[in-house]
Amino acid sequence: MQDRIKENILNISPAGLEEIVTGLGDKKFRAKQIFGWLAKGVTDFDMMSNVPASLRNRLSDSYFIGLPEAVREQRSKDGTVKCLFRFADGTEVESVFMQYSYGNSICISSQSGCRMGCRFCASTMDGLDRSLSGGEMLGQVLAMRNLTGEDIGHVVVMGMGEPFDNYEGLSDFIRLIHDENGYGLGLRNITVSTCGLIPVMKRFAEDFPQVNLAVSLHAPNQEMREKTMPVAKKYGYDELMAACREYTDKTGRRVTFEYAVIDGVNDSEECAAELAGRLKGWLTHVNLIPLNKVEGRDFRAAKDSGIHRFRDILDNNGVPVTIRRTLGSDIDAACGQLRRKRQG
Ligand code: SF4
Repeated sequence: MQDRIKENILNISPAGLEEIVTGLGDKKFRAKQIFGWLAKGVTDFDMMSNVPASLRNRLSDSYFIGLPEAVREQRSKDGTVKCLFRFADGTEVESVFMQYSYGNSICISSQSGCRMGCRFCASTMDGLDRSLSGGEMLGQVLAMRNLTGEDIGHVVVMGMGEPFDNYEGLSDFIRLIHDENGYGLGLRNITVSTCGLIPVMKRFAEDFPQVNLAVSLHAPNQEMREKTMPVAKKYGYDELMAACREYTDKTGRRVTFEYAVIDGVNDSEECAAELAGRLKGWLTHVNLIPLNKVEGRDFRAAKDSGIHRFRDILDNNGVPVTIRRTLGSDIDAACGQLRRKRQG
């Protein structure tokens, strides 16, 4: 209860910590020490062993370390760990830890719930609860590292929520996790996925040209996209494609298109050929995702043979394409399901 009136210290930048520390009559360099401890995932100010007890006590009078608590956890045979995290105010989000040949990765949430309304997605079924702060996004990475005992070298902002609907939290998070005095994660090891909020995409290309961009496309044309993704009514397909090209021209970096292959909806050979026609010759990559079953939604994953056919058509047209490895298929891997199960 007391924590609610305190501020989450994970939200504070090194410069902000310097101000706080000097304001408390201590030396500037203490800020660097504190920031470093926070990035290690400490859960208590008393764990900051090289920080004087008097400063630790004064900090804990006004701040708390806002690492979320793991309230539900599922572990898959393939090493995937899915966790429902709860913050001090009761807000719950999901994060997923995954092991790949190139290293460990975490998929984090940027909001609790989502207001984008994509029809195949469990995260949006109860609308938006609230956006997360940068420190709360960082807290998911630190808490997952504490939970698994494993290093995490890649972060994907593709969990619950639309990151570009929470640009302030997202940009704070990127700066916090990238800071060399803290976690020090390389910008190229971060991927942000959007459903296509075009004005924010442009801003993101200016602010973070080294961070990877993924766009949830899920359809080869406007008519089909509108049927599953309401955002398409506001930002049309051609406009989105033009914004992606602009992003590539500006940053010299490819855009990854996420395409959940849904049985009888967007998995036909015609769809694949149309998509290939649009993307041929681009600096791009298509990630085909076998859709996870979502309770309460009618959509089903396309059959493996259909997904492979889809991939071959893109491939034969020179469009770089991969099928996302299905991780955690023995747990509730589709985003938003753990939280709904708990509420239900
Ligand atoms: S797919 Fe992403 S943007 Fe769409 S409703 Fe789900 S969380 Fe929101």
